[in-house]
Amino acid sequence: MATIFSRIIAGEIPSYKVAENDKFYAFLDINPLAKGHTLVVPKREVDYIFDLDDDELAAMHVFAKSVALAIQQAFPCKKVGEAVIGLEVPHAHIHLIPIQKESDMIFSNPKLKLTNEEFVEVATAISQAWEGGDK
Ligand code: 5GP
Repeated sequence: MATIFSRIIAGEIPSYKVAENDKFYAFLDINPLAKGHTLVVPKREVDYIFDLDDDELAAMHVFAKSVALAIQQAFPCKKVGEAVIGLEVPHAHIHLIPIQKESDMIFSNPKLKLTNEEFVEVATAISQAWEGGDK
């Protein structure tokens, strides 16, 4: 059975897309730790990120870098933190989170509750920065 992220990539389940190329898809985490919290996933369904081929893992990070630059442009922050957990959804994904301090990366922190309009605003700001950037 397809993972929830494959169903998102296929458009069967809606998502707030921020960037896409032929191999990877980036969209807002539905339970964000901060405005701009984004997930980067490979379109090929692989559970564990370290089961990706070397080339695919490298390309995923290059794609994630382009998304991180767009996040930082749209949501000024000290850095964009990167984390891989993957215990909830068995489809490899990188979390990109705008942070001001180390504790902004603690996954047990309370999540933001954004309205649909706010999610759309966040996704639009990042995707516009991404489309305007140098990929
Ligand atoms: P992890 O597998 O890295 O522990 O956590 C999975 C992440 O995916 C969580 O941060 C969760 O909020 C996010 N997530 C789970 N299901 C969905 C979904 O259907 N849509 C979106 N946008 N994010 C999801």
